[in-house]
Formats: sequence, C-alpha cells, structure tokens
Amino acid sequence: MRWKRALDWLTPLLLLILAYPAAAQPAGSPVASHGALSVKDGQIVDEHGEPFVMRGMSLFWSQWAPQYYTGETIDWLAKDWKVDVVRAAIAAEGNDGARQHFDREFAKASRVIDAAVANGLYVIVDWHAHHAFPDEAETFLTAIARKYGHLPNLIYETWNEPLREGVEWSRDVKPYHLQVIGAIRAIDPDNLVIAGSPSWSQDVDLAAADPLPFTNTAYTLHYYAGTHKQGLRDKADVALGKGLALLVTEFGTVDATGDGPLDYAESERWWDWAERNCIGWMAWSIGDRDESSASLKPGTPVGNWSESDLTDSGKLLRQKLRGAAERKAACHGPSASIR
Ligand code: MG
Repeated sequence: MRWKRALDWLTPLLLLILAYPAAAQPAGSPVASHGALSVKDGQIVDEHGEPFVMRGMSLFWSQWAPQYYTGETIDWLAKDWKVDVVRAAIAAEGNDGARQHFDREFAKASRVIDAAVANGLYVIVDWHAHHAFPDEAETFLTAIARKYGHLPNLIYETWNEPLREGVEWSRDVKPYHLQVIGAIRAIDPDNLVIAGSPSWSQDVDLAAADPLPFTNTAYTLHYYAGTHKQGLRDKADVALGKGLALLVTEFGTVDATGDGPLDYAESERWWDWAERNCIGWMAWSIGDRDESSASLKPGTPVGNWSESDLTDSGKLLRQKLRGAAERKAACHGPSASIR
C-alpha cells in the first residue's frame, strides 16, 4: 500500500502548508502566541481557549490621515508602543471615502493588514460610518474577507458608530448586521466580528436584549472619558451580565468631541473597569490633527517618533501600552471580574 504510506507523509506536510500563514507570524508576537480568536461564554478567547485582552491604537479616519496607513507606522506601533492590535478606520462618511474611492481605500486597508501580519499583530478593519450604508459595507468587507479571511490576524468591525436619534437596535442596526455579517460569514466562517450599536456604540445593553445569531461575534463599546462615566459603565455591566462579549475598539482620554482637557482620573477608572472585566481596548487616535485626542502633534512623520512628537494623550497611551506589554497584563477570566 505504497499510496497509503505516501499519504502518511503528505498529510502532515499539507497541514503544515495550510497552517503556514499562522506559523509565519514572528516568534513572540501577539498572533504567534494567541492565534485565531473566538468568543466563548461572553469572552474573547485565544486559540488555547484562554481569555485574551488585546490593547492597541486606532488610526484616525483614513481619508484625513492617509499617511499613517503605512508599514512604517504599524512597524513603529508594534516595536515602540508594543500594541497587540491596530484598527484601520476606513472612512465611509462624506464624499471622500471608501464608497466613492473603493480601490484607494482598499489599498490603505491592505497596507495596514500586510504590515500587521508582518509584525504578528491583530488588525481590525473598521467600516467607519455613522450612517447605514449596508450594501457598500458588504462590498468592502467581503472583499477584505476574500483576500485576508484565512489569516488569524483579521477582525472585522461592521459599523463604527450608529447614531442615536431615530436609530433603534432591533429595527435598524440588527438587520444591518444580519446583512453585512451574514455576507462576511458566507466567505469567512470564523474570524472575529465586532458589531456597533446605537448612540455611537453605547447601547450594548439593548443589543444584549436581542443579540445577533452569529458565532465569534463581540460588540464594541465606545467611550470618551471626559464625557462618559459611571452611567455608561453601568450599561456595559448590564450587557456583560447578559453574556455579551465586549471590546472597546475606540475610546478617548478626552471629551466626546475628540478635544478638550485630558481626564486622567476618569481614564484610570475606565482602564480599571476594563481590566476587571478582561476587556481589550484601542485608543483614538493615531493622527496629527490639532485636537487633544490626537496622539501626534501636527506634522509628525510616519514613524520613529520621539517623545516630543507626542501629545499629552499620546504620551499617556504609549506609557499604558508599554506597561501592559511589560507585565504581560494577563486576564484572570470572567470569574475574577465583577460580573
Ligand atoms: Mg477565517
């Protein structure tokens, strides 16, 4: 039975080839250590089934800070800021985004994903919209799924921040996700998907009352520490209590306008809450606009930043991320949380 012996040889070889993209992640990198992510019992878990808390940075709107959608920026965030994850905020509002310039914005997302893979980082492709554009979101994110859905690095975020006025979860936002996530799942059955909710992704309690039917789906929670405080944490606790997995894909250390003074005390309260609940976070933003939520001062180049290139928020975030990486900030699982 020579063919049988050949199969014995070939099978592990084929498995190795199939697993190659995961195996190729740089040793010691977040993706090399944690592999493909999934959702289990209201928690994002790694390939070993352990709760996984990813921390990192969101890039600024892709049409307004395109220069940072580049390998040099992602390399620097991996090396110097020690992020686990980067978020590409692919612009879908206005007249100069992915709805009008598909190829240009797809190339930006691809550059960020390729650089994340080279560094062994997780990467969120975020459809950065306030209004519903389900057909355009489906076109963009399914194209991403076809090109990158086999990689453990990739995470989809299907609707950044649905508005509040006139927007209801069950009537408006859930059907949108059913369409867009359903289309992604037809191509990529397993990678993590993150869903937004009304009131700028704060109504996670309403989503928890009528959740999506998909596996490996978590819900984003957005906050700006200068504006959103204990009341929003209470809403999030309701969602957690109902078994929803949460991930903070965007938060600010300042006001909800993206500007105003840094709120150090409330930022710490939010980080404590996230740690207790094993919830990962990405800060807004890597950009150089003249506002306090920007991490970079106006005109900052694409990498190799010195301390003097960073704003006060940028300095604080870099210090938090490096500190978390240094103590390998582990999560002790839902049993250790306040749930
Ligand atoms: Mg997949």
